[in-house]
Amino acid sequence: MKKKILTGDRPTGQLHLGHYVGSLQNRIKLQSSYDQYILVADLQALTDHFAHPEKVSQNIIEIAKDYLSVGIDPEQTTILIQSQIPEIAELTVYYLNLVTLGRLRRNPTIKYEMQQKGYNEAIPAGFFCYPVSQAADITLFQAELVPVGEDQLPMIEQTNEIVRRFNRLYHTETLKECKAVLSKTARLVGIDGKSKSSKSLGNAIALADPPEVIKQKVFQMYTDPDHIKASDPGRVEGNVVFAYLDAFHPDLEILADLKAHYRRGGLGDVVIKNMLNDRLQLLLAPIRAKRDSLDAKMVKEILHQGTVKAAQLAKETIKMVREAMGIQSF
Ligand code: ATP
Ligand code: MG
Repeated sequence: MKKKILTGDRPTGQLHLGHYVGSLQNRIKLQSSYDQYILVADLQALTDHFAHPEKVSQNIIEIAKDYLSVGIDPEQTTILIQSQIPEIAELTVYYLNLVTLGRLRRNPTIKYEMQQKGYNEAIPAGFFCYPVSQAADITLFQAELVPVGEDQLPMIEQTNEIVRRFNRLYHTETLKECKAVLSKTARLVGIDGKSKSSKSLGNAIALADPPEVIKQKVFQMYTDPDHIKASDPGRVEGNVVFAYLDAFHPDLEILADLKAHYRRGGLGDVVIKNMLNDRLQLLLAPIRAKRDSLDAKMVKEILHQGTVKAAQLAKETIKMVREAMGIQSF
């Protein structure tokens, strides 16, 4: 039997280049040799979008289109909607007993996101606890591999702690530990130079962006503020254009020459921005074309089929979990 993969995305906006290099490329590569589940995390999206549920539901189809347009194959990958699998909520409730508030507070990604969203003590408990619900997602689908970006490493660690605690407490081997699959670019910076491009910061190039928007975003990118004239020596570190060239330019030798030239001076920002724009246009044109060819009815059917298949596995796992915990049926 093939090992299982679980990963997912919050339907809070369109998928972007960070998703592409951080996780989607690995999902495409792994889908033929693993039993892969991709979860559209609409329940998790509600933890910080509870006032705008319509935004979350509208983005479900958009995200599914993004998956199909980059080459996620529904014959090989099961795409499911989180809110349609009630066992996730049930498992989350059980797991909440295995985690302390102190432990949740130490999660560095939650700390960062709390600060970014200005929550402080007014943080919704659902948001604070989403790492526990993510542990439920992963273990319900018995996943051993989780292709994610770097920001998700604390969630994998939390999941494995829950797995070990559960198995030890209930003298069982029901739950499986999992491993993150990280890519070469496990964290793509934002076009504004912020540490991570994300949907909620609006600092990303979306997979569905039209050509002129891509170009405009590339030309907005932060470079080196001291590189005023083309003849000035420039800095490559912290330069967003080079971070994106590292992620998207396939030729390491050309890239090394380009960096050396920029460092010694004589290479203008317009030249490197044009180069990056050319690469991104080449990458994204076929993805956009595939997206435009997708029919919403067909996409909905794929989501329906995937969710039905996933529900089966969810039922099998929750039965084992209840048995391990000695929860009786009446
Ligand atoms: P939001 O702002 O709503 O949290 P997001 O852009 O962070 O959206 P998520 O849906 O939270 O996207 O993340 C989905 C997956 O994509 C996760 O595995 C995450 O690690 C990965 N990912 C998101 N942004 C990046 C990025 N900039 N670089 C690498 N991986 C990323
Ligand atoms: Mg995120």
